[in-house]
Amino acid sequence: MNLFNLRRQAARAAEQAPAPVATAQAEQLSRDYLMPATERAPQVFVRGQGSWLWDSEGRAYLDFTQGCAVNSLGHSPKALVQALTAQTQALINPGAGFHNRGLLKLVNQLCRSTASDQAYLLNSGAEACEGAIKLARKWGQLHRNGAFHIITASQSCHGRSLGALSASDPSPCNRCEPGLPGFSKVPFNDLAALHAAVDSRTVAIMLEPIQGEAGVIPATQDYLKGVEQLCRELGILLILDEVQTGIGRCGALLAEQTYGVRADIITLGKGLGSGVPLAALLARGTACCAEAGELEGSHHGNALMSAAGLAVLETVLEPGFFEQVQASGRHLRDGLSRLAARYGQGEVRGQGLLWGLELSEALAPAVVKAALQEGLLLNAAQPHVLRFSPALTVSHGNIDEMLLRLARAFARVHTAQLSLR
Ligand SMILES: *Cc1c(COP(=O)(O)O)cnc(C)c1O
Repeated sequence: MNLFNLRRQAARAAEQAPAPVATAQAEQLSRDYLMPATERAPQVFVRGQGSWLWDSEGRAYLDFTQGCAVNSLGHSPKALVQALTAQTQALINPGAGFHNRGLLKLVNQLCRSTASDQAYLLNSGAEACEGAIKLARKWGQLHRNGAFHIITASQSCHGRSLGALSASDPSPCNRCEPGLPGFSKVPFNDLAALHAAVDSRTVAIMLEPIQGEAGVIPATQDYLKGVEQLCRELGILLILDEVQTGIGRCGALLAEQTYGVRADIITLGKGLGSGVPLAALLARGTACCAEAGELEGSHHGNALMSAAGLAVLETVLEPGFFEQVQASGRHLRDGLSRLAARYGQGEVRGQGLLWGLELSEALAPAVVKAALQEGLLLNAAQPHVLRFSPALTVSHGNIDEMLLRLARAFARVHTAQLSLR
């Protein structure tokens, strides 16, 4: 190809491409107009495919956070793009007062695949947790003399709406007190503390099977089994918040299956829409106590969201999918363990494709920054914990590439520290 053709091709590509927003310009716009509600890196991402993202300056990044376990199938997966395209052309939103095909198919599949009796679709994990709290309070009125207290765990995270925040600990929003009444917190993985906290006002215990935000802290098998047994003995509800652990993240559709327990209410979110805002509330037995009007919302069960959820659920339920997540998870865990040993870091913990690496010092934010310079996206769940939540479809090759980049990020931080000393 001659030079003229190359120039003409480049000119055409430049015409077709959206106007690039340079990083510096983006930082200015962000400072001037964006409410500083979330800490954001300066990169402006324009394209994604699988485990890779490209910024407006053409740089490629390996994504091992995927929006904190949101993009379960990675960036722009074919099944999701096809489902969204078809649904957009057919019907986006008939309104929450009507049925649509995707909604009916999705609640049917969710119930069948999780052995639940009822399902409801909402917009966010926080909203699903609000729904779980409402269901439990309603159930308390019907079955437990109006009991409405819910026991949750220290360091739990159930979302940022006011009710979900009140269930979480510590409240990341210390200027919006007072929170909702009716929540008490006990240390996680401590059955005795839970026994001591339950009284006649208690209606439910609400837990994450693996505490993600707290730094990827799995419940022990004995603990979760014990919690289930306690709930059965006392006749109170078990709510599992599987917003982060559900939809294959832990190598099974639900983490509860890997623990062999059965909750009364389950919340799903994040991975369910794989990047499209979608959450779900599942209920079993007498916890199916909602009546029309008690949970409703304008976007609930929207046809576009439902089509996304259906495409994701059908993909993860394909034969062999969870086995592949487990195999990739083992590969990631082994690699992280080797790296941790080499760099004198701490524990590697998690399940499926949700892993935490405990650092010897509170350097996780510095490592995340250095990793960004190496073209790797990671998350610091806590100042001393790195969180890894890649696409469930991540390849072994991409895991190996991530480990190389992470090693370089460690080296950068190490060098920076030496220069400070
Ligand atoms: C992220 C998360 C939430 C909140 O979900 P949003 O969609 O951000 O509102 C709730 N619970 C758990 C366990 C989560 O990880």
